[in-house]
Amino acid sequence: MESQARVVIIGGGVVGCSILFHLAKLGWKDTVLLERNELTSGSSWHAAGQIHTISSDPNISRLQGYTIRLYKELEELSGQSVGLHSTGGFYLASNKDWYDYLKRERSKARYMGLDQEFISLEEVARLHPLIDPKRYIAALWDPLDGDIDPSGVTYAYAKAAKKLGASYHTHAAVIETNQRADGSWDVVTANGTIHAEHIVNAGGLWAREVGQLSGLNLPVQPMEHHYLITETIPQIAEREERLPAGIDYEGNMYFRQEGQGMLLGTYEPVATPWSVQGTPQNFGHELLEPQLDHIAERLELGFERIPALADAGIKDMINGPFTFGPDGNPMIGPVPGMRNYWAAVGVMAGFCQAGGVGKCLAEWMIEGEPEVDVWAMDIARFGDYASPEWGTIKSSENYERRFVMTFPNETLPRGRCQRTTALYDRLTARGAVWGDGFGLEAALWFANGPDDAHEEPTFRRSRAHNYVATEVKAVREAVGLTEIANFAKHAIKGPDARKFLDHVMAGRVPQPGRISLSPMLTPKGKLYGDLTIACLGEQEFMIFGSGAAQEMHRRWFESHLDGYDVSYVNESRRHHGIGLSGPNARELLARICRDDVSSEGLKFRDIRRTFVGAVPAILTRLSFSGELGYEIYVEPEYQLKLYESILEAGEGLGLMHYGLRALMSMRLEKNWGAWTLDFRPDFTAAQSGLDIFIDWDKDFIGKQAALAERDAEPTIKLVTMTIDTDGIDVCNDEAILEDGECVGYVTSGGYAHHVGKSMALGYVPADLAADGTALEVEINGEMCPAKVVAQPLYDPTGERMRG
Ligand SMILES: Cc1cc2nc3c(=O)[nH]c(=O)nc-3n(C[C@H](O)[C@H](O)[C@H](O)COP(=O)(O)OP(=O)(O)OC[C@H]3O[C@@H](n4cnc5c(N)ncnc54)[C@H](O)[C@@H]3O)c2cc1C
Repeated sequence: MESQARVVIIGGGVVGCSILFHLAKLGWKDTVLLERNELTSGSSWHAAGQIHTISSDPNISRLQGYTIRLYKELEELSGQSVGLHSTGGFYLASNKDWYDYLKRERSKARYMGLDQEFISLEEVARLHPLIDPKRYIAALWDPLDGDIDPSGVTYAYAKAAKKLGASYHTHAAVIETNQRADGSWDVVTANGTIHAEHIVNAGGLWAREVGQLSGLNLPVQPMEHHYLITETIPQIAEREERLPAGIDYEGNMYFRQEGQGMLLGTYEPVATPWSVQGTPQNFGHELLEPQLDHIAERLELGFERIPALADAGIKDMINGPFTFGPDGNPMIGPVPGMRNYWAAVGVMAGFCQAGGVGKCLAEWMIEGEPEVDVWAMDIARFGDYASPEWGTIKSSENYERRFVMTFPNETLPRGRCQRTTALYDRLTARGAVWGDGFGLEAALWFANGPDDAHEEPTFRRSRAHNYVATEVKAVREAVGLTEIANFAKHAIKGPDARKFLDHVMAGRVPQPGRISLSPMLTPKGKLYGDLTIACLGEQEFMIFGSGAAQEMHRRWFESHLDGYDVSYVNESRRHHGIGLSGPNARELLARICRDDVSSEGLKFRDIRRTFVGAVPAILTRLSFSGELGYEIYVEPEYQLKLYESILEAGEGLGLMHYGLRALMSMRLEKNWGAWTLDFRPDFTAAQSGLDIFIDWDKDFIGKQAALAERDAEPTIKLVTMTIDTDGIDVCNDEAILEDGECVGYVTSGGYAHHVGKSMALGYVPADLAADGTALEVEINGEMCPAKVVAQPLYDPTGERMRG
């Protein structure tokens, strides 16, 4: 065994082997994979091997397409059969909601380079004579779907990697991972130690145990999962052509041909987490005892829909464990707070996703950033609130919802109240309807008291619509208060603080007492942040940003600290607070703050330490509502006191509570994008319009790429559109069309209550970005007329905000 390697990958399942292959393919051949047993000794060997492209996240779907298309190349490179059957497959809807869902998927496929089409139920019956088409109302067809041989695929990755110069060792269990002072690792096995620059945890079923070797607690959980294989079915034996694969959403089940019979798998309505305390080290090629009663109901539904199954004998019943993450998506990337430690865990559809995971991780390691935005898979979307116990609760929920629809206005119930603020009970009593982000509860909107605080999951406008309209009206005409604990706050302090920020931020770094907006770019000029820089003192800055992305940004800041005399702390949970917005906000603030808060005393984009409501506070003049506004940050123990002071001072001023929905509505009529939606690493500063904040007179990360783009003009641009719709708004990822051709897609949108219009933001070719350009947006299969609006419909000159 080698004593030195650039990368050691721990785990020889399909994920580890794909990473080995992709690293070698992109040039890092000095990579070693260590497997404690034989390759495929975890969940990989007993997978059902079905492959499909559909995923909740468009970039994951894209990467699933990449994974499936890779199989032929992999087979040729490795000389190992992957047992690919490109049968095509359908997604079946048995009710209207699922049909609506499929229409949305079809819309996404238009710009994801996927070839999905609706086919008639007669066509379903022709392609798959065993299915009873009367049980369904629609079917979406994807020619990429089919099945593979799981073991063949895993070996093909490993063999191809070996041919490219990488190596792997079996029967080489990693028993220790010890970090040296320089950040490199000693990876210890019974057969020797490898000194490596980087390590990758691809431990699959043992991801938790591999993590614990380095003090890392991962919120992933293996779940029991069943599928059955039938004896020969005569109708199949008589056929020459292989049957297509299928997913029946309502049945929460998938099926395909296996030999001359069928394979049918289902996600049980009540999940069974397996080995909650930890995966036994001696578990290997064993299976679990089938629990027929767990899946009986689902099987009955399966027998109704594919009647031939009811008469077929069952040859095999498989119950095997595989690992889920808290939101069902993989957790990959450099682990925040650790050096040279990479995760590739919680990959629950390894044969659809491992190719994409391997590609992205290899690009990230070698080139510093993946080609596409991998936010939906980034391990940094979770923080330390994501305890192993919470991981088990959420992973079980996601297992049960594998093919269960989550509506755009729906929040999932399990593992809630993981983090709350001091106002939780007060706001609940006022009718807050809660959502959660980064484990923290945040009010979405306010009903008339707790008994009224409910909402039906729907693709259309819900009963919340009118309540949100009232909140917006209060902010636009009087004053509204909202909690801002959920924003991220990053503290950068020290003699080199300004120098450091000048380097990592593309925008101007403000003077003491002032605030500026700035994009943060990657070396390739992609957006990595849309942040607010506040200068509290020459050596003390506070960066406000997306709460969801706080660990992602922490990782970025920390990875650039070397060479600067500066300290960094993620202080998000040290500063809770309240935002005040609306024409009466100044008067309210003046009642509880002794400072001069007139338009001269506290200017737009000022920040200062002071006292508000008799408690120490950081006061800023900013708001995302586009209205005169203030953000008041206090330590969590002062939050309640501040809130009560505001309530008292708000008497007679029309004060109302408002939630995130109202805020997101108000920013639409200001043409403002939001991080993780409109602004993300898929796009550049010029494409998103954030280049207006760039300070071209200084050097900063990504400047060369940004300059090159400035000279060449971006090919696509972010636009805001109004849309003619009736009772329904976009819920992200819809196709944008021009003359029937897909030209872009929606990144966010909704209803702009004050101007009374359905609106969306999205990226289109630059020549379609001019004011008034007529486009179409596909909502639930309907082509809705849309028009580009270059200027904000509300307060285009920003007078109200600056006044
Ligand atoms: C019943 C069932 C049906 C499935 N059907 C499908 C399907 O149809 N389509 C699909 O895409 N996916 C399916 N899956 C999921 C798929 O199997 C997993 O997504 C995939 O196997 C995950 O691969 P992995 O490499 O992450 O993990 P694993 O396969 O668990 O690999 C981890 C490897 O790490 C090794 N290891 C652990 N600890 C150490 C250590 N300390 N040192 C060295 N090596 C170590 C293990 O021995 C193991 O080989 C199914 C899973 C099951 C159980």
